[in-house]
Amino acid sequence: DSVFSNVDRAPEDPILGVTVAYNNDPSPSKLNLGVGAYRTEVVSSAYLLSIFVEGKPLVLDVVRRAEQQLVNDPSRVKEYIPIAGLADFNKLSAKLILGADSPAIQESRVATIQCLSGTGSLRVGAEFLKKHYHQSVIFIPKPTWGNHPKVFNLAGLSVEYYRYYDPATRGLDFQGLLEDLGAAPSGAIVLLHACAHNPTGVDPTPEQWEQIRQLIRSKSLLPFFDSAYQGFASGSLDTDAHSVRTFVADGGECLIAQSYAKNMGLYGERVGALSIVCKSADVASKVESQVKLVVRPMYSSPPIHGASIVATILKSSDMYNDWTIELKGMADRIISMRQQLFEALQAKGTPGDWSHIIKQIGMFTFTGLNKEQVAFMTKEYHIYMTSDGRISMAGLSTKTVPHLVDAIHAAVT
Ligand code: PLP
Repeated sequence: DSVFSNVDRAPEDPILGVTVAYNNDPSPSKLNLGVGAYRTEVVSSAYLLSIFVEGKPLVLDVVRRAEQQLVNDPSRVKEYIPIAGLADFNKLSAKLILGADSPAIQESRVATIQCLSGTGSLRVGAEFLKKHYHQSVIFIPKPTWGNHPKVFNLAGLSVEYYRYYDPATRGLDFQGLLEDLGAAPSGAIVLLHACAHNPTGVDPTPEQWEQIRQLIRSKSLLPFFDSAYQGFASGSLDTDAHSVRTFVADGGECLIAQSYAKNMGLYGERVGALSIVCKSADVASKVESQVKLVVRPMYSSPPIHGASIVATILKSSDMYNDWTIELKGMADRIISMRQQLFEALQAKGTPGDWSHIIKQIGMFTFTGLNKEQVAFMTKEYHIYMTSDGRISMAGLSTKTVPHLVDAIHAAVT
């Protein structure tokens, strides 16, 4: 008998499990709108090619070029990189999220550490807070990305929720948000999605962000930004960093977890950064020294390849420029899918108000479809999505919109 015979089978991850179920479905018309990963559109002018390029993962052109450059550089070796990661990568990542002219960077008050994508950045930040910050309560939005409570709980923080989404309006429950953060204990940590809130696609307006900022600062709450979609939401890196930058412009402190999974399409390379904006250069350097003590026993030091790609692109004004164009192309395709889906539902006369599809932003639409309707669409139409009715717009294409519309129509009528 195995010494592990008492181990129970764990459930599939609620998000990644959707892909497992999709892979097991033999239907030729199946459609995976579960996981948040970008897929290409059909190239209509290249008819024969289209069967190869439709709905496929995309490696950005600029990423290929950066990799080529790295491969051709004989001086590159595979030595360990420092615990904190590549220095260039860290500097450029802080600049990307905070802005080139950020006083916090000029005053050397930002500690940035290369981490394992967004998830790893959140986890390292949370462990640092547990060890060195006086409050261990973190408020996260309801709902939020399913991994948030698990990451924070495992790091030893205690998780509480603040109201965020109003199912009645399919928009922001701004009053509820202000009330809940207003009632949070002084010093509590607040997790904020920098843009393109997952799963709802609902972001505060700039005016609402300003009110949130004032409340957070007046109550001395500590903002922890999750920036997984910079540039991917609006198509502009600066617009999508607006929320973070207003919190840094006021001189206060905050943490930021950055991911290059979506905006550079580097999902599996696991490249991201944790930045901790402090009041002084002296504090920032001490903070950095302690974050390294979190990393060392966890995974020693981060991987070299993904961060080298990012640094190569961010360093070269040519490549940077090409990246912004490709990024905008991805964002625009998603925005256009929203429009197409909305118009197709209207054309079909599907009952209900679907305007939230074009009001929401980012990778996901929170359709408002319930668990039973989702199960129906999976069973009858082989369409896969998370049970909360979230669909990844990036998994949709002009060709698959009609199939999705038929399924939604049948599910709600
Ligand atoms: N945060 C949010 C809100 C996300 O949606 C995701 C990815 O889906 C992540 C963080 C982390 O992604 P990764 O660890 O792949 O960068």
